[in-house]
Amino acid sequence: MTTPLDPAAVIAEFIDAVSPYNPNPDAAPVAVVGVRTAFGEDVFTLSDHVIRAMCRALAAYRDPEDRGECAGCGGRHLDENLHCRDCGRLHGILGQVIADHARRVAADDTGRHATGPM
Ligand SMILES: [Zn+2]
Repeated sequence: MTTPLDPAAVIAEFIDAVSPYNPNPDAAPVAVVGVRTAFGEDVFTLSDHVIRAMCRALAAYRDPEDRGECAGCGGRHLDENLHCRDCGRLHGILGQVIADHARRVAADDTGRHATGPM
């Protein structure tokens, strides 16, 4: 269980971390954001520099749970065994082996019906 974060403190920390690098510190803010949480209320003025830093942080972000997209349903909920929680498809080498085997069984089954006695 993780400790609940104070969202306003996180925003303030982000602003504090990126603001010293603002090349245009006297520019007018581009947004005012109000945050109401269990911890209270805060209002932040955001510079263009902070918004651009958020964009860069987002571009660099990789979720620890991100194991790619399911080749079957396009879902993004692969577990640590690369098993899709949405449609059940297995990925990775084991998933490929199982999928290949299932295709062979299906082809074999089709072949039996096509060439079997009538
Ligand atoms: Zn899936």
